[in-house]
Amino acid sequence: MMKNPVLICDFDGTVTKNDNIIAIMKQFAPDGWEELKDGVLSQRISIKEGVGKMFSLLSTSQKEEITEFILNDAKIREGFTEFVAYAKDAGIPLYIVSGGIDFFVRPLLKGLVPDDQVYCNMSDFSGDYIQIDWPHLCDEHCSNECGCCKPSIVREIAKGKDIIVIGDSITDLEAAKLADFVVARDLLLEKCRSLGLHHKPFATFYDVIDHVKEVIG
Ligand SMILES: [Mg+2]
Ligand SMILES: [Zn+2]
Repeated sequence: MMKNPVLICDFDGTVTKNDNIIAIMKQFAPDGWEELKDGVLSQRISIKEGVGKMFSLLSTSQKEEITEFILNDAKIREGFTEFVAYAKDAGIPLYIVSGGIDFFVRPLLKGLVPDDQVYCNMSDFSGDYIQIDWPHLCDEHCSNECGCCKPSIVREIAKGKDIIVIGDSITDLEAAKLADFVVARDLLLEKCRSLGLHHKPFATFYDVIDHVKEVIG
């Protein structure tokens, strides 16, 4: 039974079926980006450093190609529209907290989730290479250099509430540790199991709706 639930939902690999940063790198980045990705996943380098360096491999002259590619390539997971409607009807605040970048996160969520419920990184195409700007840096309680610091955002917007985190990867782990309940897939699911966090697995957002209904009672 939860009195005051709040939903904190990841974007890449959660709302969308694939990770959009990885898809962009596979399509456009020169060799060398995989090392940065592996460094992030194994926590050898920070997310901020890894993602910043990956995008700095991409020329801003490709802006239109990259944007068009990712808006066509990304697929929204089944049941997401219904999930957003469910949260709204039930009066549960829903925030998308994403380590993704504004130029694909915001267009893909257009008409689904209002802009002021979306937290993500920003992009600067004014130089020769793409530069990522970080409006949501780590607070004094986090030293992971998250880039978009999910635990800091959770502390800011969900204080004193019953926190439900929905996610798929290592980048959701610190927020998941602050949650009362986690709905997880992929690497985050493994981590929830090994750390013994209160969680349920999901494949579609219909599963997420069922789990949330059950846990809030
Ligand atoms: Mg993700
Ligand atoms: Zn952080």
